[in-house]
Amino acid sequence: MVDTLVPDYVDAKKIFAHNALISGILPISRFTRFCELLENNSGNLHVSLQFHLDDNHRRIIDGEIEALVFVTCQRCLEPAQIRLAETFKLGIVETESHIARLPAEIDPWMVTDPKLVIADFLEEQLILAMPIVSYHSNRCETSLPAETAASFDQKSGMVIKSDKNSPFAILQKLKEPR
Ligand SMILES: [Zn+2]
Repeated sequence: MVDTLVPDYVDAKKIFAHNALISGILPISRFTRFCELLENNSGNLHVSLQFHLDDNHRRIIDGEIEALVFVTCQRCLEPAQIRLAETFKLGIVETESHIARLPAEIDPWMVTDPKLVIADFLEEQLILAMPIVSYHSNRCETSLPAETAASFDQKSGMVIKSDKNSPFAILQKLKEPR
């Protein structure tokens, strides 16, 4: 990814038919709502967006975002740097009824304006990518015994965004009705 600035918006009429690829950066400070979740607003979001029309003439954006951001470690309350990375597939829809017709692997993005405000949906993706609770991965997370993590979980009423291999994820799976 190159360090060119990504435009805030693009023209929805042309960009899909032209199979445009937009890649570059946006300063984290640009995302004011997202910044409220952070310790500070330093750094850049790296973005890669491939616009295209699929076989059903749907307007699709295949995207990848990555950022290193500073959050507050919930154990020592000092700044901790975490890496956020997401890939997504968005389908542009104009009405609510079009949302139901999208295949499950495509997330709808409802747009009625010919102007696609890229920065808006990138901010949504960033907020979705944020773990609910963050720890310093080396010095705070690993020193936290499993029972402490679980009880913290109960007391705060918060869910620790568990990684797929954690014992909590397995327990959660077992509890889910099939
Ligand atoms: Zn910490």
